[in-house]
Amino acid sequence: MDISNYNVKDTTKCECGLEFNIHDIDGLKTIDNHGFFSNIARTCSQIRCPKCKKETVLLLRQKGQTWQILGIATKIEKKQPMKTENKAQINLSNELVCPICQKACKNKLGLNAHMKTHNK
Ligand SMILES: [Zn+2]
Ligand SMILES: [Zn+2]
Repeated sequence: MDISNYNVKDTTKCECGLEFNIHDIDGLKTIDNHGFFSNIARTCSQIRCPKCKKETVLLLRQKGQTWQILGIATKIEKKQPMKTENKAQINLSNELVCPICQKACKNKLGLNAHMKTHNK
């Protein structure tokens, strides 16, 4: 799996205080990102915290017949409001582009003045 969107924490404890152990491992996945965690953790397990249900990835290293949890990783939440803001800005800049010659104007007044030059 691709772990680049995850925040790695050097702990085996969940934010809620629960300590993960190897019994929480539920299915193994190979980490695709080269050089991740100094290549020590090549395997992980995507689980939900049994206590707070938060999605967590356990970073694992094989230790003989069993596994050692090196740390955990949690998904980085993408902030939605930022996207809407960007979209609004694009709409605004479109408004300030002359529909006839595509010239960009700094403000609405400038565009209006520019538009008059096409009506001559
Ligand atoms: Zn938890
Ligand atoms: Zn124009």
